Amino acid sequence: MSIAENVAVIRDHIALSAAQAGRNPEEILLCAATKMNDADAVRQAIAAGVDCCGENRVQELTQKLSQDAYRGAPVHFIGHLQTNKVKQVVGKVDLIQSVDSLRLLEAVNREAARQGITQNILLEINIGKEESKSGFSQEEIWEVLDKFPLYSNVNLQGLMAIPPILQNSGDNDKFFQEMYNLSVDITAKKSDNISMGILSMGMSDDYGSAIRCGSTMIRVGTAIFGHRNYAKPHLG
Ligand SMILES: *Cc1c(COP(=O)(O)O)cnc(C)c1O
Repeated sequence: MSIAENVAVIRDHIALSAAQAGRNPEEILLCAATKMNDADAVRQAIAAGVDCCGENRVQELTQKLSQDAYRGAPVHFIGHLQTNKVKQVVGKVDLIQSVDSLRLLEAVNREAARQGITQNILLEINIGKEESKSGFSQEEIWEVLDKFPLYSNVNLQGLMAIPPILQNSGDNDKFFQEMYNLSVDITAKKSDNISMGILSMGMSDDYGSAIRCGSTMIRVGTAIFGHRNYAKPHLG
């Protein structure tokens, strides 16, 4: 199937999942996870109507920006970002979804201040408490939010999570539910540069459950572009 056909199938599935939860499908944005797909594939996804693109690696982001690959759609950074690479991402993307440590948050705020801009961000939660993943715990997030008035060059728009790899469908529902509850709890905490409009969760294998649990942005790669070919020489 073509990228356009895949996107149409996903839109149908979004509508179905939203209906099951009594939600409006227009509340749910489709972010194309474009890693390891080239500029041409990205352009096809944008032409097929994805709402935004999410890039994982700084090198690929820089290359595709130079190719003007994301024209017509906002671009987000969704991968682990090293603090020494913030200059290449801050001010270049509409949203950094993967702010996963206090150190990175401070580095992003500092770089945005240096550029004289406000950078939109999400905080990444390590919802499955996995050793292998970065991200804030549900406990430490409150301390971080207390410090937010200090970070005047970032605008917090919500939360993002990558739950554990699925063993059985439905396994991640409890994590999606916890994410939803957390975002509701944080919404009650009012601060000038904090809003919880975005809850970014759900990927190719589990976006239906994520939507039923309250996701407002799904990040989908494989179901749009097909399986990534890790054997192929890497872009750039
Ligand atoms: C690759 C990736 C996705 C999409 O994963 P698929 O299973 O291919 O849909 C979503 N989010 C992040 C952060 C990713 O790295």
